[in-house]
Amino acid sequence: MQIYSKLPDVGTTIFTVMSQLAIEHNAVNLGQGFPDFMMSEELTGLVDEAMKKGFNQYTHMNGFPLLRERLAEKIGKLYQTPVHPDTEITITPGGTYAIYTALTTVLEPGDEVIVFEPAYDSYIPNIEINGAVPIRISLQYPDYSIPWEEVKAKVNSRTRMIMINSPHNPTGSVLSEHDMQQLKQVVAGTNIIILSDEVYEHLVFDGIQHQSILRYPELLERSFVCFSFGKTYHCTGWKLGYCISPASLMKEFRKVHQFNCFSCDTPKQVALAAYLQNEAAYLSLGAFIQQKRDYFRQLMKATPFECIPSHGSYFECYSYAGISEESDKDFAIRLTKEYGIATIPVSAFHKNGKDDKVIRFCFAKKEETLEKAVEKLVTLK
Ligand code: PMP
Ligand code: GLN
Repeated sequence: MQIYSKLPDVGTTIFTVMSQLAIEHNAVNLGQGFPDFMMSEELTGLVDEAMKKGFNQYTHMNGFPLLRERLAEKIGKLYQTPVHPDTEITITPGGTYAIYTALTTVLEPGDEVIVFEPAYDSYIPNIEINGAVPIRISLQYPDYSIPWEEVKAKVNSRTRMIMINSPHNPTGSVLSEHDMQQLKQVVAGTNIIILSDEVYEHLVFDGIQHQSILRYPELLERSFVCFSFGKTYHCTGWKLGYCISPASLMKEFRKVHQFNCFSCDTPKQVALAAYLQNEAAYLSLGAFIQQKRDYFRQLMKATPFECIPSHGSYFECYSYAGISEESDKDFAIRLTKEYGIATIPVSAFHKNGKDDKVIRFCFAKKEETLEKAVEKLVTLK
């Protein structure tokens, strides 16, 4: 029997590869994006309570109703945007699933999707498995901004979607109001749908305002906006998120969702519905994680790495061009094996492996973890 791969060029994700290598070499893992500190005990207590109260069976296919109501309230307060909990919000098993489902809902073979690189690793395989064509545009090194003139030149009648991600993984760059105005111009008068990956919604630093699609009704009317509770509440292993879109698009999204996941973890949704009333818990996140970025950045000054400043997310990128000529993959592997620090080579976020000699560090860690990592990095030769 012959097996045809639908994704012949795809191997194991870099996050799994580097985490595995970190385990094998007992390295400090600043690669894969997950916190090493405890999540809120209040929230884990609420899950326990929900299970004990008997919330252990399937909940509504679109998500636990009270959770959707509370999300709509939160969005109304944060972004002054009315979102209907019955028709415009669906709870999903994580942000990645929401992205995949949105792409699968819309894409037909041959459709073009504009995607900016470096791009989160699931985007391009998710486009390709739907028979669509990724149109890759490089963000401008070193500030990783969007080259809007190139975007305008690449939009044509086959362009079905544009994917954006702010705060951005892996670079920590954020979109500005100017970017949103440019996006408006690009899509005006077209049928282009936007997919906005906002899983780091609350992890924005330096007093910058998060430019959510939810602030722009003219963009929201043609968008799927994807979020992750895992990133917001420091529980990436929960794999719970949600998607917001206008009712007409959401109706189609749910047709795909209902035969794939159908409904998500009930007790966690019950707990999140209660926890969302604690506004301080999400409003304080940016400052909390920024402190970690600042601490890490300060420590890194003692090393020969050159910082490419992050303004959001769990990540900061550093150039090692002044240290080594190795490829970023070889360098990251050597750092893990010889120095005991796992990172992510940024070429893994480029389909053609573009290598700017940059690696990504996850700073969403305890201070002692960051100290332990940098102690090793200062000895780098
Ligand atoms: N998008 C980006 C940019 C991410 O970094 C992540 C984090 N893993 C996701 C989506 C997916 O989130 P989740 O773990 O909820 O699937
Ligand atoms: N989002 C996480 C990161 O960028 C990893 C998620 C995964 O392992 N697929 O590091």
